[in-house]
Amino acid sequence: MSSYFSFSKTPKLSHTEKVEELKRRVGGDLPSDMLPNGDLDATLVRFLVARSYHLDEAEKMLKKTLQWRKDNRLGEILKKPPSDKVLADLRATIPHSLHGFDKEGRPIYMELTGRIDPELLKAKLTKEDIVHAHLWMMEYQVRMLMKRASDRKQHTVDSMFNILDLEGISMSHISSHMLDIFKAIAKIDQDNYPEQLGGAYLVNAPWIFSTIWSAVSVFLDKRTRSKVQVLSAGAKQKKALLEVIDADTLPEYLGGTCKCKGGCLSGEGCTHPEGKTIHHIAMEEDLAKVVSGEVVLP
Ligand SMILES: [Zn+2]
Repeated sequence: MSSYFSFSKTPKLSHTEKVEELKRRVGGDLPSDMLPNGDLDATLVRFLVARSYHLDEAEKMLKKTLQWRKDNRLGEILKKPPSDKVLADLRATIPHSLHGFDKEGRPIYMELTGRIDPELLKAKLTKEDIVHAHLWMMEYQVRMLMKRASDRKQHTVDSMFNILDLEGISMSHISSHMLDIFKAIAKIDQDNYPEQLGGAYLVNAPWIFSTIWSAVSVFLDKRTRSKVQVLSAGAKQKKALLEVIDADTLPEYLGGTCKCKGGCLSGEGCTHPEGKTIHHIAMEEDLAKVVSGEVVLP
């Protein structure tokens, strides 16, 4: 009996075959400036995972990203840092730092989200300033930070772990200006940097956060939402953090033992008993070397 059904069936590809097929569909390669650790296959996998291994969808997403990178000259952005004024205003209005690596080797981004002053932010920084600085930081992650993380682990590390501290958060944090910025950044990240967020813990959440979360989470797709854990101060939060991060990398105020000089958010790192500076990720110094030409990126 000739099989009508098998004739109409599309061949079922394994995940590995889908990676090869996606590679073929984009011409066998991708620009090196979008590959953390230069790892083409790992990048293709991230696009496939973001589209639940639907090949056509992943191809569409990847081709859109390629066009977006071209249109926005992402390959050159590291040579065009935000102005010193914008950087100073960002540090003053959004306390944040890159602080060591988690147990899986993912770089840790920490932010005191609840301490952001929405009024000051609006007065000092435009949405364009913030989006540009965000892209600059994302490209730093892709091209420099993840290379370092991968060298440490001897395999490709292409995602981050975020700790956003919600202490002090209020309804003023979901002003239309703040939501507008959040929405723009969430869209950029979800459309163009798939799976670059490994996980996010929103810590010290006050009771009011459930209202704020309903306003904010509508801008996040299901996959992103599934990576976010909301925690409130206490033993459970400390336990959850210590499962992901070694005690000596976790700031003291979150239940760890790290005491960086100037505080863990200063970004200065701290001195290991052996005299080595640890937890210090020198983003601005690294990027100054790119601008001066001392470091040439692949
Ligand atoms: Zn520290």
